[in-house]
Amino acid sequence: MNEAASKLVCAVCGQLAQGAPERARVVSNVRRLGAEEFEVWRCSACRSIHAAGAVSDAELAAYYQDYPFARGKRSRVTRYLHGRLWRRVARVGISGHAKVLDYGCGAGLLVADLCERGLDAAGYDAYTPAFQRPALLQQRYDVVLAQDVLEHVEDPLALLERLGALCRPGGVLAIGTPDASAIDLARPSRWKHSLHQPFHRHLLASPALLAAGAARGWQLLRYYPRSYANTPVPTLNLPYLLRYLRAVDDTIDVAFDPPAVRLAMFSPAALWDALFGALRCPASDGLAVFRVPEAALPKPPAPPPVSAGG
Ligand SMILES: [Zn+2]
Repeated sequence: MNEAASKLVCAVCGQLAQGAPERARVVSNVRRLGAEEFEVWRCSACRSIHAAGAVSDAELAAYYQDYPFARGKRSRVTRYLHGRLWRRVARVGISGHAKVLDYGCGAGLLVADLCERGLDAAGYDAYTPAFQRPALLQQRYDVVLAQDVLEHVEDPLALLERLGALCRPGGVLAIGTPDASAIDLARPSRWKHSLHQPFHRHLLASPALLAAGAARGWQLLRYYPRSYANTPVPTLNLPYLLRYLRAVDDTIDVAFDPPAVRLAMFSPAALWDALFGALRCPASDGLAVFRVPEAALPKPPAPPPVSAGG
């Protein structure tokens, strides 16, 4: 391998890649980038998966143009799915009027649904003009939620640190992110939606995520290994969704296009998935719910030293 490859360092566990790490090339699951292939590699120490090579902010901004998720609209389905996500978090004991921050809120659909439930919810997103509100990051919250955010940033540990610091003492931090442990890099096309290149920069293996929480003194309250979008309601499960994406052009854009009728969705296997797909959903999207105790919070910055003069 070339010199750059010999210097692969895991952004999660800090280990230098030894020998030839497991690698794969995968096409993007975004229609606009469909012909483009991207390389990913897996840290043999913590099993996290990383996008190979750095991308500049300008390149990333170009990739995010016309990002399909920005086309998401509120609907009965999103309201139902967000209800499932919130119940997973609230199960640890959260007041019905808790102050909640949805960090990386995208188009703000979850925020709107949480407000509708009576929660004091706000959303922050550095990439959505309506939610670029840095003042929100000066406050502390009963609950901080970051769903599908950690995997998008260049420094996931720094983001974890920042999210923990946004919790009030004893507050709850919920991190939902794909689990690299479930992804088989020998079959990259099967996992193109989880790998979601080039947008997912680092996918943590679940043990690495839990270890990162423990290292910060966070108490793990609950861990859900499967997506909240995998439901018992017919057709609302991930295997059925993936089958539907494949029946069109196997891009994530399909999920945001007007619904299409495809013959393949009436096959016996598809109908079985419509009803029972939730039962065969892999443990590929984890949600970790942590308590951030007071002792784990960073101390406020010390006052500047008094100048000795001139
Ligand atoms: Zn690692």
